[in-house]
Amino acid sequence: MKYTALSALLLPALVSAHSARHHARQATTATYDYSAAFSNADTAAASSSLPTTVTFSLLSVNPTAVPLSEINTGTTQTQSTIAISTTYAGSSKPTWIANAPDLPPSLPIPTNYPTLDVTPPTDSDEAQQWIKEVMDSGVYIPDIAPTNPGGCGNNTAAVANASSTGTCWWTCGGCTRSTDVSVCPTQNSWGVSYDDGPSPYTPNLLQYFDQEDIRATFFAIGSRIISRPAILQDEYMTGNQIAVHTWSHPYMTTKTTEQVIVELGWTKKVIKDTLGVTPIYWRPPYGDIDDRVRAISQAMNLIPILWTRISSTQTFDTNDWSIPGGSVNVYEVLDNWELIMGNSTKIDTGFIVLEHDLFEQTVDVATGYILPQALAHQPKYNMTPIVECLDMPLANGYLETNDNSSNPLPLASVTPVSTYSASGASATSTGSSSSGASGSHSSGSSSSDSQSSGSSNLMAVNSMLLGIAIAAGAGAATLFL
Ligand SMILES: [Zn+2]
Repeated sequence: MKYTALSALLLPALVSAHSARHHARQATTATYDYSAAFSNADTAAASSSLPTTVTFSLLSVNPTAVPLSEINTGTTQTQSTIAISTTYAGSSKPTWIANAPDLPPSLPIPTNYPTLDVTPPTDSDEAQQWIKEVMDSGVYIPDIAPTNPGGCGNNTAAVANASSTGTCWWTCGGCTRSTDVSVCPTQNSWGVSYDDGPSPYTPNLLQYFDQEDIRATFFAIGSRIISRPAILQDEYMTGNQIAVHTWSHPYMTTKTTEQVIVELGWTKKVIKDTLGVTPIYWRPPYGDIDDRVRAISQAMNLIPILWTRISSTQTFDTNDWSIPGGSVNVYEVLDNWELIMGNSTKIDTGFIVLEHDLFEQTVDVATGYILPQALAHQPKYNMTPIVECLDMPLANGYLETNDNSSNPLPLASVTPVSTYSASGASATSTGSSSSGASGSHSSGSSSSDSQSSGSSNLMAVNSMLLGIAIAAGAGAATLFL
């Protein structure tokens, strides 16, 4: 492993430019020949199709970071987890949102919820109620057939119709509607987010947040909340935004309308039951959204948040999840991060990045390397939860505390239509009928690029959530989670 340190030149300026409470950091530039850096056989096959040398700069490193050589690809880690900082008594009062209700008196009882990590049944009383509410919402649900499992490569017809004049399927071509949030409006503002938790490693991330005064948006999985509700409470009570990331983490466009409804409905419910508030923002797993899924989420008062994409090859995806997935190593993730930081200064908006708190490796790379570099970045990033980067208070993240006058809910702008099952997806899809978050979404440009960016790579990796066999493929830079 080649390693060149240039610490003395950069360190003073970076430290003085940053808050004095932060630890002194080393600044280094390193060129890694990671084929030599690997020490475990698990990475050999995965790395065979990837470049052998990655060059990236480390502006700053957390002095307590897990060494890069110990953040292993595709292997179980051995770093210890920590307990959450505070366990909150029932009915505790949130302090970050003035008008927030108290926490519920007790934590959710798992037996009151569906089976974990599978799409819930659609015939339960709750499901039937939510389905009725969607059908009665007045939102037109386009008659778009569910996509086939297998992503762009297994959906020739859908890909051909994925542009803004068709179904606006983000996964295959990057099409967005004006209601999608994919950037922060102000340059150098970073709407920080972590997906797929809460996990046993989330407290490590929260500890670093507390140390460095960072807050973020957590896109939480309903099934993970059932397992770790106290961690979700700690996220929320320490000023982070909580948002929906579905119950079982499927490709949502592959699901029927009723299944999409229960994936969102149960996740909203378990968050409300755990925190006392109901999120009005969500992120589709893998960014898998089209106009049908958009319309359903609008009918459930949920605003989609993706991540920044400036071209078919330049998405703000660290690909951190592919480290435990076995197809990418930590050096490549840091290379991705350097590219993201470079691109962040070339666009006239702020940005949103895809990262995860589900795995030890993804938390280790965040706390040890990504976040320290972000804190040292010049010009300085304004790092906030996504709702705050949209120039709104944290309160606007939830149904119960949202300011409806300045941030109309998705359902507020619906012009009722007579039937939900009208045939044919008309040009007036619901994707553009909501005002979303007070007009602050500047990502409205849609891409008609129907290139199959995820071709053949969008395999079902939901199994990662279950901690079982993971089959990540080549070309992992085009995989999204
Ligand atoms: Zn996810």
